[in-house]
Amino acid sequence: MSTIAPLPRARLPELPAELAGHPAAGPEPAENRTLSILLDDARAGRPVHVEYIPARAGREVPWPHWVPAEIADAFAGRGIGALWSHQAAAACHAQAGRNVIISTGAASGKSLGYLLPALTAVLAGDTVLYVTPTKALAADQLASIRSLALPGVQAASYDGDSSAAERAWARSHARYLLTTPDMLHRSLLPGHARWSGFFSRLRYVIIDECHGYRGVFGSHVGHVLRRLRRVVAHHAPPGGPARPVFVLASATVGAPGVCARLLTGLDAEQVTEDGSPRGPLAFALWEPPLTDARGEAGARLRRTATAQTADLLAKLVGQNVPTLAFIRSRRGAETVALAARRSLGGRDAPAAKVAAYRSGYLPEDRRSLEAALSDGRLMGLATTTALELGVDITGLDAVLIAGWPGTWASLWQQAGRAGRDGRSSAAVLIARDDPLDTYLVRHPEMLLRHPVEATVLDPGNPYVLAPHLCAAAAELALTDQDMDIFGPAARPVVDELTRSGRLRRRQAGWYSMRRSVAGFAAAGLRGSGDAPVRVVEEETGRLVGTVDEPSAHLLVHDGAIYLHQGESYLVRRLDLADRVALVEPRDPGYTTTARDLTEVEVRGELQHMTWGEAEVRFGDVRVTRQVIGFTRRRADTGAPLDDTLLDLPPRQLLTRAVWWTVSAAERGRLAAAGVDLGGGAHAAEHASIGLLPLFATCDRWDIGGVSADLHPATGRLSVFVYDGCDGGAGFAERGFQAARDWLTATRQAISGCDCEAGCPSCVQSPKCGNANHPLSKPGAVALLDTLLAGAT
Ligand SMILES: [Zn+2]
Ligand SMILES: [Zn+2]
Repeated sequence: MSTIAPLPRARLPELPAELAGHPAAGPEPAENRTLSILLDDARAGRPVHVEYIPARAGREVPWPHWVPAEIADAFAGRGIGALWSHQAAAACHAQAGRNVIISTGAASGKSLGYLLPALTAVLAGDTVLYVTPTKALAADQLASIRSLALPGVQAASYDGDSSAAERAWARSHARYLLTTPDMLHRSLLPGHARWSGFFSRLRYVIIDECHGYRGVFGSHVGHVLRRLRRVVAHHAPPGGPARPVFVLASATVGAPGVCARLLTGLDAEQVTEDGSPRGPLAFALWEPPLTDARGEAGARLRRTATAQTADLLAKLVGQNVPTLAFIRSRRGAETVALAARRSLGGRDAPAAKVAAYRSGYLPEDRRSLEAALSDGRLMGLATTTALELGVDITGLDAVLIAGWPGTWASLWQQAGRAGRDGRSSAAVLIARDDPLDTYLVRHPEMLLRHPVEATVLDPGNPYVLAPHLCAAAAELALTDQDMDIFGPAARPVVDELTRSGRLRRRQAGWYSMRRSVAGFAAAGLRGSGDAPVRVVEEETGRLVGTVDEPSAHLLVHDGAIYLHQGESYLVRRLDLADRVALVEPRDPGYTTTARDLTEVEVRGELQHMTWGEAEVRFGDVRVTRQVIGFTRRRADTGAPLDDTLLDLPPRQLLTRAVWWTVSAAERGRLAAAGVDLGGGAHAAEHASIGLLPLFATCDRWDIGGVSADLHPATGRLSVFVYDGCDGGAGFAERGFQAARDWLTATRQAISGCDCEAGCPSCVQSPKCGNANHPLSKPGAVALLDTLLAGAT
């Protein structure tokens, strides 16, 4: 191991509260062995920044007095003798009947916070409903509850895979039921009459991993929980206490109380102070070096994040450092594992210690992986984010994160897998070649000092609200009081549904027919429309997934490569009449991006700001998109291979957008100064779409943009950024609220890039409908300077 000079430490503001904590003794930063190994070799470049996060001491408290001895004994049998302070705080709020959200770091033992009151209630004869975004997590929780072997705690999971006999058993016997929002929506709520015994005794609803409920899916889940509240109230014995009590568990999110309220419609206590101990962590930000490869318009490409990750993984495993690498796709995870094994020397001992992890493993397979990692049979694991949930792998010496994982919550969740008591560890974020990652590794204050984001979801979206109101009316007649549960947007939507005949007004309230909502129940919650396009494996007829109608042309056109949960499929045929895309599993080594022509029309302005001579607006728009073809790109570098034309009809989207314009006078001055206005607006549009996910918790693919020197909708130079689903998802609105910070970051991302004329790290976009033409990097900077000069 070589010694290296410590990296210069930038002057940065104080760490956010969730990282600062209570200092404990730990090794000096310079002794961080893991980091030294990574810095050993100049070939891979060096980190742009290293942040040393100090250790934190734990705070232990005794068991609350109300926990029955048998429960305390069962946990003691698993080596848990006392609680961390946050676990006890959450448990006591719930026990006292107060809704609570517990929002602390990865591996802080949040589950104990809800298990104590929940198991106590079950022993007293009540029931508990546990809701998780994935079946895998439910299976893990079920195994963990059963391992406590508490007599009287009849736990069962209820999901799409349960047999008829298992379902019948769960209905009549389960006291602790584990399910997903999808199953609530599709089965438990429509069939609530058969569950009246369970619902009438329901004391707690546990919403685990609730930071995962965002965007349109989050809005759907919010309404499922409101429907649940109504159904439980209907079955509750008269005169009892208000039930159920909601206990939400989340990774660290900004404003957890707001998150709880958006999801459940109820106020909740917040528990955010993490009482668990943590070892010291070095957090390195890595930008892969430039290569000689050239992309569009001759731009030099960087080494890919996956190639860089494979290198670092091999280096660490070669030195016997237990390492976990997070990669976005399964293909990427497999590529990383393979490349690391290759560079470790094929079948030699160290190479055999590297594996790839895929989603969908059974709980017992995952337990054996965990065991192999902890006893050293396995040294390196490359995984998709599937492992982020519900796997008990912590205390590693190193975590590699290939590309910004999308949210701060995920970032800390992944980085939090590193670090064991008293030992130093390292986490490395490896930037992909796009504006967002590049910006983040060059602005560590933004990455490491930023408060974790608030959850973005919009329960008021009428496109999401309407089908849930119909479903609710089919479950139990809707009354005026129910409007309070569904929020202020509900009444106008109910009136509209009544006018259009989907709801019937009678004396006792509004009704709808079960069969009229069957389509919505079947369609599920993971899309925006009530009739999505099904993606079906041609050979077997297996349903692979669904795609929202508005996105179908973009994602599952003929010849598209469709990625689903890290698996890759080739689309044989998109049949619009039958709303089905026929696919075959195939990984051809290229990806596809659709090219489209987009027009936008303003339907109504909702908010507006004046910045000097510029205007920033937010409002309703009609977007007309026509997919005209697609580009195939090399999967490893993203370099374009060829273009194919398609013949598809235009699609309309009624959504929301944020847009800015500059005045005719400013435009004249810029034109006179020789600024390429069309190319500048287009470049600014691309970069701003790339950066919005930082402010609005969305994916670059959830939003779209349009720009023009003189746009017909405004008569001005304009840049529009819109939500990619009917009714909007809240992203454009967040962009409007954060416009100054968002567009300032956009300007910095463009002007700070080393390239000459624009590259994938700044203004080029892989999803451009116009093959990244025209683009002007200096034009974008000049325009954004003009815009931001008057920003308030
Ligand atoms: Zn660039
Ligand atoms: Zn473009």
